[in-house]
Amino acid sequence: MGRQFFVGGNFKMNGNIKTIREIVHNINEAKLDPNVEVVIAPPSLYLLLAREHLRKGIEVASQNVFDKPNGAFTGEISVDQLKESGITWTLVGHSERRVILQEDDAFVASKTKAALDGGLGVILCCGESLEQREAGKTIEVVTTQLKAVADVVKDWSKVVVAYEPIWAIGTGKVATTAQAQEVHAAIRDWLKKEVSSEAADATRILYGGSVTEKNSSDLAKQPDIDGFLVGGASLKPAFVEIINAKL
Ligand code: PEP
Repeated sequence: MGRQFFVGGNFKMNGNIKTIREIVHNINEAKLDPNVEVVIAPPSLYLLLAREHLRKGIEVASQNVFDKPNGAFTGEISVDQLKESGITWTLVGHSERRVILQEDDAFVASKTKAALDGGLGVILCCGESLEQREAGKTIEVVTTQLKAVADVVKDWSKVVVAYEPIWAIGTGKVATTAQAQEVHAAIRDWLKKEVSSEAADATRILYGGSVTEKNSSDLAKQPDIDGFLVGGASLKPAFVEIINAKL
């Protein structure tokens, strides 16, 4: 198996030139676990700033990408524009985009395909609402979201799945280690059945939702948790402790 632990930082619509510089400086100066793949996702306005100042070996992701190569798509960014700027990853399907911007499964899948075809890595987010969890629909919701992608993407080698229960995002209410592990194992099982056993073995499945330096080491011990997607805490110096959760 040997999946490399992966920690992503999603800054969302936070930060300014000064604070992004400070965060990057902090990461550059920190002693990070060399076995962890680290990717930060600042707002698009600061992608180049982050890339310019961030040390080599740490990658930068956009928080979104469009599924068309160029043209009259006001406000959007293309895969080629990201690649030319040294941005090697993108988030796709974050619940804030699914819920607030009303992106549906097919659009998320189309963007995932465009990003992968163009050579970007994709952090593909999925997760259920509290209502869906309480109705016992967590696995159904998550696998339906993933199935839309599997319908158009066969090669999952540059996909990292981020399981992010919506009720845990930005709420301070983290999933228990057992709740997270259960869904991660179900996603791996689904990958085995619907994609391939190679994809099931190799695909990193991250947990996201109120991860902090306090809960990260317990979560990191779960066999199917291969890293984190971190929102609020990625803006703080404690992000380094989360990156180093396995040390
Ligand atoms: C996220 O937005 O991906 C996230 C997990 O946010 P937070 O860590 O703040 O809950």
